[in-house]
Amino acid sequence: MFVTVKDKEMISVKEALALIQNNSISLGVEEVSVSEALDSYLSEAVFSPINLPPFRQSAMDGFAVRSHQGGFYTIKEEIQAGDSKDIKLEVGEGARIFTGAQVPDDADNVIMKEHVLEKEEQIFLQKKTEKNNIRIPGELIKKGALALPKGTLLNSAALAFLIGLGIAKVKINKKPSVAILITGNELESAGESLTRGKIYDSNSIMLKMLLKKAGIEKIACYNVKDTEEDSVEVVKKAIENYDLLIASGGISVGDYDLMRNAFQTNGVCEKFYKINQRPGKPIYFGKKENTLVFGLPGNPAACFINYQVYVLPAIQLALGNESILLLKKATLEEELLNPTNKSLFLRAEVRGGSVKISENQNSAMLQSLVAANALVYIPETIKKIEKGEEVHYLEILQ
Ligand code: AMP
Ligand code: MG
Repeated sequence: MFVTVKDKEMISVKEALALIQNNSISLGVEEVSVSEALDSYLSEAVFSPINLPPFRQSAMDGFAVRSHQGGFYTIKEEIQAGDSKDIKLEVGEGARIFTGAQVPDDADNVIMKEHVLEKEEQIFLQKKTEKNNIRIPGELIKKGALALPKGTLLNSAALAFLIGLGIAKVKINKKPSVAILITGNELESAGESLTRGKIYDSNSIMLKMLLKKAGIEKIACYNVKDTEEDSVEVVKKAIENYDLLIASGGISVGDYDLMRNAFQTNGVCEKFYKINQRPGKPIYFGKKENTLVFGLPGNPAACFINYQVYVLPAIQLALGNESILLLKKATLEEELLNPTNKSLFLRAEVRGGSVKISENQNSAMLQSLVAANALVYIPETIKKIEKGEEVHYLEILQ
């Protein structure tokens, strides 16, 4: 009779994520110019140093007038955007004005050009307008008000918003430098001819591109031979010089899976080794001082999925983003069975709130990940989900 022995080293998805959260690294703060801060996270809140707009601003091309009951005005002056002249208006007087220009203090209304008839120095009102078409100072944001909270991801709009407030430098969390360690004697580079027993290395480009998407700038890639000596040496060099190590392959139970041992030899403190999930059960996570170490499976799709679920959140924590691994909900298009006792991460396409699980879930298969935009998470306790029921999924960043 066979008895299933539960692997003592194996932990659940939730336990693994908690360990990542509890062992996050922080690399300090740096001040950079706003143009260099794309994809960084603010290390402190930013408050507006000015009112925006800073002055009463015309929202239209037309005529700034000092209103009265009558329907016509005498036009005295012209005010362009950027002009700083101080114009006085009497009742019944106005000035030609353009969008973005400062409205004279005496004017209470900007009449749209389209709503008047012009004749020499006079305008005649054709239509009464409800809005005064004047943007008041601080209408967009008031001086001293919170502009962006700590932890904000600095995307293009955020950077433009800061520059629009006259802010030229920002404090951001330093980004981790990353070493990718590619193991496997069988690997050849694309462009080379494929000799007997070899395959092309696809994990190095995949991890590099995923890291770039996450905003990581300093990335190095090492090839590691499947020997104890090389594994130990490359891990040593990488730990000394980088904040995060991501190894691909060599982490399972084969005789030539040498990375766990190489981490241990280099004094990395192991936090977990296997997760009760499919795909990607063998995944190593450890820490040495302020360096995080991940060992991901070599199978390309398993490597990709474990990066999304575990490595990316660790990177986001280091960058200062606390809202990691947000699961969303959508409804299943087809019934789903989980015949295993494991949690599943299934590649899927989510469109309009509906989830279509991809047909091929093979851990070596990259092709079915190309169109995928989500990883559906099925906890180990769930055996069956009916069509039309809700499932949780993680959006893929790729
Ligand atoms: P491993 O995790 O080292 O046992 O590798 C598992 C499978 O993934 C094997 O079939 C490897 O040949 C394959 N593999 C490992 N590394 C890579 C890589 N960098 N690119 C593509 N396939 C890989
Ligand atoms: Mg290998």
